Amino acid sequence: MRTPVPDYLRQVLRQCSDNTDGALADYIPELANVDPERFAVALCMGDGKVYAAGDSETEFTNQSMSKPFVYALALRDRGLAEVQARVGVEPSGDPFNEMSLGEDGRPSNPMINSGAIATHSLIGGPEVPVEDKFELIRRGLSAFAGRELGIDEAVFESEFATSSRNMAFAHMLRHHGMVEQTALGLVRGYTLQCSVKVTVRDLAVMAVTLGMGGRNPITGEQVVPEWVSRQVLSVMMTCGMYDAAGDWMTGVGIPAKSGVSGGILGALPGQVGLAAFSPKIDRHGNSVRGVRVFERLSGDLNLHLMGIQEARVRLLLSSGDVELDDGTAHHLRLQGALYFGSVEQLFRDLDEVPEGEAVVVDLTKVTYVNPVGRRMLLDGMRGLGEGSRRLILVDPDGVLSDPTGSGVDMSVVSELSEA
Ligand code: GLN
Repeated sequence: MRTPVPDYLRQVLRQCSDNTDGALADYIPELANVDPERFAVALCMGDGKVYAAGDSETEFTNQSMSKPFVYALALRDRGLAEVQARVGVEPSGDPFNEMSLGEDGRPSNPMINSGAIATHSLIGGPEVPVEDKFELIRRGLSAFAGRELGIDEAVFESEFATSSRNMAFAHMLRHHGMVEQTALGLVRGYTLQCSVKVTVRDLAVMAVTLGMGGRNPITGEQVVPEWVSRQVLSVMMTCGMYDAAGDWMTGVGIPAKSGVSGGILGALPGQVGLAAFSPKIDRHGNSVRGVRVFERLSGDLNLHLMGIQEARVRLLLSSGDVELDDGTAHHLRLQGALYFGSVEQLFRDLDEVPEGEAVVVDLTKVTYVNPVGRRMLLDGMRGLGEGSRRLILVDPDGVLSDPTGSGVDMSVVSELSEA
């Protein structure tokens, strides 16, 4: 059987390409020189499989799409408290190029320029000189992408030569004691960060790395800890699309970040990383066609974060009888993920099995177990086993085994399997 995904992605591009609204971001002169017709889309699945269509090998500068990743690196390097002391997590409701400082002088969030400059200054710690921060960032972005990323010199020079507004932000941050470095050094580093070249494929991999708890599924590298990815995705959800955040949340419902080069990346936790590229942007600085593509993908593929994720909720694949050597047992075949909601349902299914009967709980088709699902299942089964039911656990792939050390006593699993 052939996967329908590539054909589907080509169809989405075809159907969105008649939209010619928007304009190139000419406040960075070099960005006005790109081909406005470029159009690409990519998905990276949780296991690292990439699908792409259109101009998917075209490189463009990542601009503000660097911000969530640099925020992630700052959190990794400095911890939550130190980062929170310098940059907030509240949506500003303003465009990306408003300063939006709170009364304490802290930028509202790391997705607007002032917040991103403050985030940049945190990288590596106070002992790292400002001119060395960019190389740490370039390496970090490369780890997210799973390949060495370079910069677009022409875009860098063009933006740096016209960055009076960002210079003003850096001076204000220094005035408020939010950064220690020189404004010039910071804006230079921040502009280099924005000039890193990526493809939609890179962006989809970078996004899925955030969506899979900070682990790049292609290289296997744990780039940032899981708590960092959760923090970053939360801020992307509320602040990633600037003053279009509410429209985006309701209409698309995927944590995302746009850049004025025309890229948008998004991550659906535990499932997929998405990216689109088309250079013409709307008044918020978001790619016009890119927004359309995300609307389509979210709707067609049921990706809205607030939508009911049916595949996750339906845990019971089938229920029937199975013959054992010494009689008949109830056979509960489970599929999908074990987490709070699905295991809670399982207990109600188990409750329906009459006292005194044997039950086979079959995890062969379970693909993922989170720590809460694991603990609930083990505790619950221990309780049931102590009653008059006989329980047999079938777990051929060891999905319940506990390499991450969630603190669950695994002896119960072997006891149950031996039963
Ligand atoms: N480098 C751009 C700037 O600082 C990034 C803005 C964006 O992509 N929204 O203005």
